[in-house]
Amino acid sequence: MTNMLITGGAGFIGANFVHYWRKHYPEDNLIVLDALTYAGNRSSIQQHIESNAITFIKGSICDSNLIEDLLLNHNIDTIVNFAAESHVDRSITGPDAFIDTNIIGTYALLKAAHKIWIETSNNTKHRFHHISTDEVFGSLEPNDPAFTESNQYLPNSPYSASKAASDHLVRAYHHTYGLNVTTSNCSNNYGPYHFPEKLIPVVILNALAGKDLPIYGDGSNVRDWLYVEDHADALLLVVQKGELGRSYNIGGENERSNLELVQTLCDILDQMQPRADGKSYAEQITFVRDRPGHDARYAIDPTRIIQELGWRPSVTVEEGLEKTVRWYLDNEAWWRPLQARAGVGKR
Ligand code: NAD
Repeated sequence: MTNMLITGGAGFIGANFVHYWRKHYPEDNLIVLDALTYAGNRSSIQQHIESNAITFIKGSICDSNLIEDLLLNHNIDTIVNFAAESHVDRSITGPDAFIDTNIIGTYALLKAAHKIWIETSNNTKHRFHHISTDEVFGSLEPNDPAFTESNQYLPNSPYSASKAASDHLVRAYHHTYGLNVTTSNCSNNYGPYHFPEKLIPVVILNALAGKDLPIYGDGSNVRDWLYVEDHADALLLVVQKGELGRSYNIGGENERSNLELVQTLCDILDQMQPRADGKSYAEQITFVRDRPGHDARYAIDPTRIIQELGWRPSVTVEEGLEKTVRWYLDNEAWWRPLQARAGVGKR
């Protein structure tokens, strides 16, 4: 049985990971630590909190005393670190929180883990898994090969630079102190519980509300899209079987330009919830001034996790988007209150 501390478990990917782990290992003891920033939602994991299936603690990963207490009191053997400031646009207008949580917070977690697992108890069975992003590798030209784990780190935004710094700290704690770490770098996730300021939920909800569907620049920026449950499945494998000190790239093998992606979403919405006037939602697409320093293309080569851990994405982006649109149509009670939160819809 595992006693796992999941940080950022009320966020988008963290909440999906909680659901996935509970489904596969209901006997495990899950402690979710989340600061409940504007992006955190207790409601995403409410069913597990109410049934006492997990323990929820509101607090910050920057608080090493709290982390030490949690590690000791719950006999934690595994940390999975999702907690982060995650929105690139917000990192451009206000990088401070990104430095605090992504760099100082990860450092505080590592420091506490080192103290309790190595200095205090010599627990050799511990594991620290850190979630990172493909954005640390910088931007690709159209014909460049996809990022592998050995690509150089070349982060371009305050967000990706803060994630890169945290990845380096995780690596250093393994090499210097022998902390049992793994890291994963994933591409753009999408699916249920995605906060309504990110592209896919914005497009779905704006379409249904009859509003513009904003696309940066000319829509040619390319991203790889990963269905969040496939990501949770990959993380389960890395946490259980990943080689210590190793990093794993996780991508959906689904590269699409932003314009292609939005057009596919419009096609799906046209089928599932046709506009009253019979026209396509694609008529609502508008092009807006590009984000400063917008990386042209990210693409992930997931060969390592496929060959070493036997993972594969289960859906194409079209299948995943259909599930996602269906989820938003069925879960207005989850997303409606979030649209009123500070800053949402302003970027
Ligand atoms: P999110 O913004 O939806 O969730 C982040 C969660 O962390 C929120 O619940 C928030 O309240 C919590 N949090 C923030 N600061 C905290 C702190 N100081 N202490 C404790 N909790 C804090 O983000 P997400 O999309 O779920 O991303 C999870 C992780 O995956 C992040 O590390 C992110 O960098 C990484 N990632 C995300 C994507 C993606 O497409 N969403 C892609 C690559 C990597």
